[in-house]
Amino acid sequence: MKSEIQSRWNYCWIDGRKVEWAESVEVTNPATGEEIGYIPNGGEELAIKAVDAAHQAFPAWSKQPGPERSRYLKEWARRIQAKSTELAQLLSQEQGKPVSEAEGELRVAAEFVEWYAEEAKRIYGEVIPPSRSNHRITVLRQPVGVAALITPWNYPAAMVTRKVAPALAAGCTVVMKPPKETPLIAVALFEELMATGLPDGVANLVTGKASAIGQAWLTDSRVRKLSFTGSTEVGKMLMRQAADQVKRLSLELGGNAPAIVFSDADLDKAADAIVDNKFENCGQMCNGINLIYAHREIADALTERITDRVRQLKVGEGSQPGMQVGPLINEEARHKVSSLIEDARKKGAEIRVGGEELFEKGSFYAPTVLSGVDDSMKLTQEEVFGPVAPILAFDKEEEVIARSNRTPYGLAAYLFTQDVSRIHRVSEALEFGMVGVNGTSLSFPQAPFGGIKESGMGREGGHHGLKEFLELKYIATVLD
Ligand code: NAP
Repeated sequence: MKSEIQSRWNYCWIDGRKVEWAESVEVTNPATGEEIGYIPNGGEELAIKAVDAAHQAFPAWSKQPGPERSRYLKEWARRIQAKSTELAQLLSQEQGKPVSEAEGELRVAAEFVEWYAEEAKRIYGEVIPPSRSNHRITVLRQPVGVAALITPWNYPAAMVTRKVAPALAAGCTVVMKPPKETPLIAVALFEELMATGLPDGVANLVTGKASAIGQAWLTDSRVRKLSFTGSTEVGKMLMRQAADQVKRLSLELGGNAPAIVFSDADLDKAADAIVDNKFENCGQMCNGINLIYAHREIADALTERITDRVRQLKVGEGSQPGMQVGPLINEEARHKVSSLIEDARKKGAEIRVGGEELFEKGSFYAPTVLSGVDDSMKLTQEEVFGPVAPILAFDKEEEVIARSNRTPYGLAAYLFTQDVSRIHRVSEALEFGMVGVNGTSLSFPQAPFGGIKESGMGREGGHHGLKEFLELKYIATVLD
């Protein structure tokens, strides 16, 4: 069985071909610790080969009419949908999330491809009336060139399509590196992309040593753009490396999202939405709620409701029917969650439910609710990235806005209230790229997903996401 998996997965994709590599690294299931496959442990050599292929493919691909590029993307979306059951099993195995969540992620992944298949047809320029009558001002949108794409492990399927689809729609060619924890779903999605008959070299996937691959791409002048999703720490480092050649950048980085529940909110609906968001993907979501600010008048009532819901969550291996929360991605992540909870407990937080590691095998941690949390506790200052819901009380609107804005992150924030004036006032005052009001769903193919401050720059989704892969060119023509 192992050799079948190995021969099935021990390759990446360069210039339209499967590339095998002598050195490989194993991929494991975080729910069991078992090996599920291997990938090439590539480095500089493979990274450069990928750029060679993407650079060579760029002139022809960028000149293809939008409707032609659209055809490949539509076929890719169709193929992902047709294989979604099989792909969801693989995603759940290597990432740990329940199969039902993996199916949802693949649905979203395909929706992004479909959306950008349509956007590929609508890359318009402008003709601007000039102040001198003998001139014509035209503005073109042209593809940036070869784009490097680096993705994280938490949404390893959606992150692939959110980057590849707008890049190809814009007329760019791409080189991509998936994370070491979850590369197999990226290899599988590329298999479906290659099966569309995409011209050789348009999309290339390299697996292996992150720093060697990143360095090779950021020092290669043929690579014109980096689109990175991952931690703020690595994002800052890549930004510094990209500065030497002033490469275009999109950075989707970490978050520290507050959810503010005012005393007039519908508490049942707020508790449902908060628990759905907080425990999705075992709390490993960049726009996941990190801190729950409850108005002091309703703090106990909200805490009861959240605790009741969390107590009922089913935790286990994602492939088992009915599971709602899987393991953390690895032991290191579980250790971080444990130590942040320990710090909060020592400083006076009360554990309402959870607060312990689970099972002998796998990196499971019990879904946890903490009350009596205050701003001195470490988990209020950093991204927890785990199944932990800390509840803090507040008294005044201005106070909770100031406390929410204190973080260096600025990805997502949520608020719950029935007061329309407050909705506008608070959502405009919150220093975050996205605000959810009376709900927590933010990922739509049509919407500009992304953050401000140390959560990054640029947007994914919508026509905004396409523009990340397009340059403006202004042409002033003298008319005779
Ligand atoms: P990470 O450690 O920064 O890794 C992200 C990617 O960068 C991986 O592919 C990783 O490769 C690669 N990488 C690491 N060091 C590199 C280097 N020196 N040069 C080039 N590439 C390098 O982040 P993560 O732990 O996978 O993901 C979790 C983080 O992503 C969280 O902070 C989360 O908030 C953030 N995130 C943000 C968004 C958003 O839209 N804002 C969405 C999802 C996740 P290896 O895996 O091979 O090391």
